[in-house]
Amino acid sequence: RLGILAIDGPAGAGKSTVTRQAAHALGLQYLDTGAMYRAATWWCLQHHIDLTDEVAVVEAVAQCRIRLDSRDPNQPSQVWLNDQDITAAIRSLEVTQRVSQVAALPGVRRLMVQQQRQMGAQGGVAAEGRDIGTHVFPEAGVKIFLTASSQERAKRRWQELQEQGQQEITYEDLLQQIIERDTADQQRACAPFRKAADAIEVCTDNLSIADVIDKIVHLYRS
Ligand code: C5P
Repeated sequence: RLGILAIDGPAGAGKSTVTRQAAHALGLQYLDTGAMYRAATWWCLQHHIDLTDEVAVVEAVAQCRIRLDSRDPNQPSQVWLNDQDITAAIRSLEVTQRVSQVAALPGVRRLMVQQQRQMGAQGGVAAEGRDIGTHVFPEAGVKIFLTASSQERAKRRWQELQEQGQQEITYEDLLQQIIERDTADQQRACAPFRKAADAIEVCTDNLSIADVIDKIVHLYRS
């Protein structure tokens, strides 16, 4: 089997922390595919590209050289686009609200998936996203579908923002945003977000992060 751990799930299910830590424990390279779609979206916004114009968006995204540095298992990947550090910029509210629109374009997905497959060609990768088990690496050795209720996901995200001192958004608005993004990702025509038939579903509502990581590490090793 190919040495690939695929972790898919909706926004805020804890995928990033879990995948990063599991990758570290298993000696795999961590690949945050969401960061790539965010980087592409940031670039288009920066260049005032009309996001409804697929040709223009794909042309812009084709100019993106995205580099991810995932050496620190306790930090999100550092993201570089054409040698500019955009690690913080891709987490902005504007990018978060627009990313599903850009990620729905088949031409954009083709460019991203091509790069992701190159990164995983030798195996030894733990990749997280929405279409890893179904589309990017359907041959992955272990596929996890990480979930949590939307209320729980919004609560966790709200607490995280409070800790960062960002108090301008309410819990209700966050819940609404999460539901809208999930719906857009599930309803797009190209590689829609869903659980792969052979993925193992792990609901994180009543589990600690450490328990979830243990469970996944165990599944991968067994
Ligand atoms: O994982 P994250 O929330 O950073 O992903 C941001 C967005 O990127 C998702 O809402 C989705 O629209 C898109 N995405 C995707 N396919 C992936 C990873 C992310 O369409 N494999």
